[in-house]
Amino acid sequence: SILTEYWTVAERNARLLPFEGVLLWNRVLWMGVALLLSGFCVWRFSFSAFASERATKADKDPVRAEPTPVRTEPVEVPARNTPVRTELVEVPARVGPRLRQAQPERNVILPHLIWLNFRETTKNIYFGVLVLAGLLFMIFASTTVGDVFGTSTWPVTFQMVELVSGSFSLFMIVIITFYAGELVWREREQRLDQIVDALPTPTWLPLVAKLVALMLVPAVLEIVLMATGIGIQLSKGYTRFEIPVYLQALFGIDFVQYALFCALAITVHSVVNHKYLGHFAMIVYFVVLGFAGQLGLEHHLYPTVYSDMNWWGHFMPRLRSFQMYWTAASMLMLVAAHLLWTRGTSSGGRERIRLARARLNGATLAFAGASFVAFVALGGFIFYNTNILNQRRQADYEKKYKPSAAQPQMKITGVTLDVALYPADQRVRVRGRYTLQNKNAVPVSTINLTFLQGPKLDIHELAIGVPNRLIEDDKGIGVRRYELDEPLAPGATTSLSFDIEQATHGFTNEGSNTAVVFNGSFVNAVALLPSLAYLERAELERDQDRRKFGLAPKERKRDRDDVRGLQINPLSPDADWIGFDATVSTEADQIAIAPGYLQREWTEAGRHYFHYKMDAPILNFYAFQSARYAVRKDRWNDVAIEVYYQPGHEYNLASMIESVKASLAYDSRNFGAYQYRQFRIVEFPRYEVFAQSFPNTIPYSELIGFIARVRPDDENDIDYPYYVTAHEAGHQWWGHQVVGADVQGGSMLIETMAQYSALMVMKRKVGEAKMRKFLAYELDRYLTGRAFEQKKELPLSRVEDQPYIHYRKGSLVMYALADYIGEDKLNQAVRKFRDANAFKGPPYPNTTQFIAALREVTPPELQYVIHDMFERIVIYDNRAVSATAKPLTGGRYQVDLKVFAKKRVADELGREKDVALADLIDVGVLDDKGEPLVIERRKIDREEMSFSFVVDRKPV
Ligand SMILES: [Zn+2]
Repeated sequence: SILTEYWTVAERNARLLPFEGVLLWNRVLWMGVALLLSGFCVWRFSFSAFASERATKADKDPVRAEPTPVRTEPVEVPARNTPVRTELVEVPARVGPRLRQAQPERNVILPHLIWLNFRETTKNIYFGVLVLAGLLFMIFASTTVGDVFGTSTWPVTFQMVELVSGSFSLFMIVIITFYAGELVWREREQRLDQIVDALPTPTWLPLVAKLVALMLVPAVLEIVLMATGIGIQLSKGYTRFEIPVYLQALFGIDFVQYALFCALAITVHSVVNHKYLGHFAMIVYFVVLGFAGQLGLEHHLYPTVYSDMNWWGHFMPRLRSFQMYWTAASMLMLVAAHLLWTRGTSSGGRERIRLARARLNGATLAFAGASFVAFVALGGFIFYNTNILNQRRQADYEKKYKPSAAQPQMKITGVTLDVALYPADQRVRVRGRYTLQNKNAVPVSTINLTFLQGPKLDIHELAIGVPNRLIEDDKGIGVRRYELDEPLAPGATTSLSFDIEQATHGFTNEGSNTAVVFNGSFVNAVALLPSLAYLERAELERDQDRRKFGLAPKERKRDRDDVRGLQINPLSPDADWIGFDATVSTEADQIAIAPGYLQREWTEAGRHYFHYKMDAPILNFYAFQSARYAVRKDRWNDVAIEVYYQPGHEYNLASMIESVKASLAYDSRNFGAYQYRQFRIVEFPRYEVFAQSFPNTIPYSELIGFIARVRPDDENDIDYPYYVTAHEAGHQWWGHQVVGADVQGGSMLIETMAQYSALMVMKRKVGEAKMRKFLAYELDRYLTGRAFEQKKELPLSRVEDQPYIHYRKGSLVMYALADYIGEDKLNQAVRKFRDANAFKGPPYPNTTQFIAALREVTPPELQYVIHDMFERIVIYDNRAVSATAKPLTGGRYQVDLKVFAKKRVADELGREKDVALADLIDVGVLDDKGEPLVIERRKIDREEMSFSFVVDRKPV
């Protein structure tokens, strides 16, 4: 996909895959490999290989295996059978008493049979080859585990577990499927079946022996996998092995799955009663499983997430319920396997059914009945716990309440909260009070509240400060509407008090509630607290989902100049700038955090309380966190820096703190003072992989930097904990000082600007050469992003929350602009824009004002750059075609360079057309470290041009 990865929708529709270059060689290479492999197989393959190899060994084994006294027992042949047929005898009924006497022998036979079957399975070359191939594949995969920006993470145990269980699972499934067939058919293929089946052992004995033997295979392989994981960790110089994590993941989770799978494979093979049809049935099963999602049959058997902070948290009860459910199902399947187990030469369908009926005795019935009851009960339990009604709720919300979005609403001006977190039972209760003000030019007569949690939320109490009447209480969707007896005049204030609770009852099909967890709670206020605005974010986004519920496709954002959009900001649609005060309580040994400065901390009735208060206005945008944190503290001038982290995750704290200091220094020098006296980074479990800036507080996923392994001496590694920290620090200005309107381009003012701050801070630390590496990633992600665009690509100044534009393209544009007009001049413009808009709104600014500020500092000959970068979609295809270096006297070199340049403008759907080129483009020569020997900005107005430079050192 190297050739097509950047194709836009329009190109995918119109272009044919060129059969040349990389693609051609790739096909040649792999077809060659395939031919070689097939050739080797043809040469080596013998149709009798399996049978003969095993027969020689097995010829002796079963004989030796059967204890002598049993072997000589006479066999009772049922009268209704012809004498030739050695068909068996329903043991429990007829030979039962005798076998009961032989109990001690049976206790010996079973383990013996298991061992025999197990050895037969594992002691052959094919098994060895499969396992070895799996291990090699795994070790190969381990080289890129957890890569972010080409930079690896520490091989922490959960990464290893995911690696080994993920990359080996295919091999495990192949092994189990294949050997299930081999085991079931072993005696028959060796023509020993009539002898073995004639033995007066119960029919279930070989079945159980084969099943247990097959289950031993994954059990042993899990040990091998664990050793491999530890070996990979050792080879990377990591020694904090977490054996309990390995055991739980590989045995408590994966092995159970494989064991269930063994039961399925054995059942299929004994029921189908044809070896290759059996294999085929298993393949069909996998194909169906693979497409289950698309068929609408998602099977949510094992989505669990491990976090160093929270282990498997509340995923476990759900996982165990599913495991028990499928175990019950497997028991039922095994009963079927037992009933239809082929013994002797009876293989006709009717005869098998007759036999099955004969085998269906009291014990079997009881076993089947118990399994069935468990299956149904557990299934009911799971069904009770799951729900998939979310989409319908979203659609109904839009249909029923979008019209009321036009009614003028009160805005929040102050928030006082008492948040009680109960991590052990995944519960949170909030008592709060909003101060409300009518900021409209017209009276407000209704208050419409949205509760995003809908029916999951218990509203214990809700009161408005003026007389009112509840006119709608839609608990299913999560909407309450009140009519005020007396409309509130413009400027009038009132209050809203509430007491709400979100408890987690059981589990859902989608996963666990990961907001409040044992260790590492992260509750986003917008998801929990009542909102006074109609929330567009709660609407269904994707057109295909919308169509399902009869909703028209929707635009992602309002137009850049939309009058209503300019009145609200995207972070808190029901408030502008507010006062904030929150008391958060949690379990005694945890630390709870909310934005603001700690006023008081105390313990009461076994709970830990923290009172936070802000002394300057913030957006209505905050979260609450709680965990058993360790804290690292530092200072920058009079700003206290604190990192709250999971003990053991110390790797990148120094880098993060250094980044905080560098960012505070750069951003406050260039964009105005930092508005707080404190800067906090707070780790949360990897249920989500992002960092997010709230006022003076930055929740930061354990996976996005805490376990990164940045090797300072590796020129390819990018210190992304440093980068992510600088980006989030930038948001304290871009988002928390200046926030754009909720219109097209709004996310450029927040995300692109945070990116810009981060890039400038990073550039000072790592130098220009490494920045080019980073920007190459950004370019790649931009081009990939636009290839996957579902609706339309927009110019940067009209971006509609499209990450590949506001982050990736934004990085490239701002970095290039700083280069074109100079960082100082650019910062001057940015500062002017910031000063005009900080802590202001409504109306909130849009990108028109921002770009106007840029144009003021841009010289006339570069105005076209602003237009190209922000107002349209321009793609360059610039490259050096050839370069020759001639040594001159004094160690100097003359470099002759031929370059190719092309400029294309794309429309929203990615249709591109060439445009005339008359651009200033950097042309230069680099040394072998990627540092420039010379770079000059030249006017390029033809597709092919030649340049000549003289440089002081040897060029690359
Ligand atoms: Zn951001």
